[in-house]
Amino acid sequence: MTIGCSSPYKISDHFDGKRFFNPTAPHGQTVGEIIKYLVSSRPSAWPREVSNDQKLVLNKALSDNEVAVTFVNHATVLIQVQGAGILTDPVWSERASPVSFAGPKRVRRPGIELSELPQIDFVILSHNHYDHMDLPTLKALNERFSPTFLVPLGDREKIDNLGAKQVIELDWWQTLPVSSDLEFVFTPTQHFSGRSPFTFRKSLWGSYVIKSKGHMIYFGGDAAYSAHFTEIARRLGAMDLSFIPIGAYEPRWFMKSVHMNPAEAVHAHLDLESKKSIGIHFGTFQLTEEEIDRPVIDLEKAMKPRDLNEADFSTLKEGQTQTFLLGGLSHPVNGFPCASRLFE
Ligand code: ZN
Ligand code: ZN
Repeated sequence: MTIGCSSPYKISDHFDGKRFFNPTAPHGQTVGEIIKYLVSSRPSAWPREVSNDQKLVLNKALSDNEVAVTFVNHATVLIQVQGAGILTDPVWSERASPVSFAGPKRVRRPGIELSELPQIDFVILSHNHYDHMDLPTLKALNERFSPTFLVPLGDREKIDNLGAKQVIELDWWQTLPVSSDLEFVFTPTQHFSGRSPFTFRKSLWGSYVIKSKGHMIYFGGDAAYSAHFTEIARRLGAMDLSFIPIGAYEPRWFMKSVHMNPAEAVHAHLDLESKKSIGIHFGTFQLTEEEIDRPVIDLEKAMKPRDLNEADFSTLKEGQTQTFLLGGLSHPVNGFPCASRLFE
């Protein structure tokens, strides 16, 4: 059933005719909880500035079965695969905020400056929160590369307004085949959207599976732990490489319905049957109460009882690149010089 002109999307298990919702947690954070959090929150002290010490090494030619991933910052990752440059949730602005003078301010530079980026063909956007959809960055990317933008239902107009030529709006489980070797699938998450109180859950949120020659790369966006991870693996198959959010999770009583902690991220890694996972969504913008280094410490703690180690689930430094041989993926290869010895 389609609702009239004002609601162009079909009523479904995640759209009620006016707003999108999580079938796994229909009530989300209540207004009372939001007020309680705003008055009681006690964020830890983050450093004002952290320098990046990673030397950027890009531009290695990749074979058909290789993928190169470069961590930029927060949820921004450069994925180079099948000859395509793909950026996830690109944020280069100083603040994750609607205004330039207030809101979460970055404590470190992106691992790559915008001017250093190689060709970008696709920009995939998980949802419209300011730490994921940064319109000044998207405008700059559009002017330089004119990429194809993939966006959740309800977000097309914002990107159209930047002058983008190709904007694809996707519902959960919809696919965008690019070639016989490359395809995008928009997949569910448990989260929410909104850039003001008036646009709360008016657009959809989600994650992506990039299929490269039948191999699966998962980008998790922003997510609470829920059954959606198991469902993605059930429908699409086991993931080869996954980017899973591990930060912005304290206090749990408030954040649990929208953000995973690292222990839950490890569950997600297992649910996705991921051969290798890389943590994202930490270390750049202080969004919640935990310390800047807590996500990485807690991730290590959460892996031990499950006999997992950094070959299974790790993090990258800002500006660090790793290449992986999809299909033969079991251990990561650090940096391009090693990769070229292994793959040539
Ligand atoms: Zn979000
Ligand atoms: Zn976020």
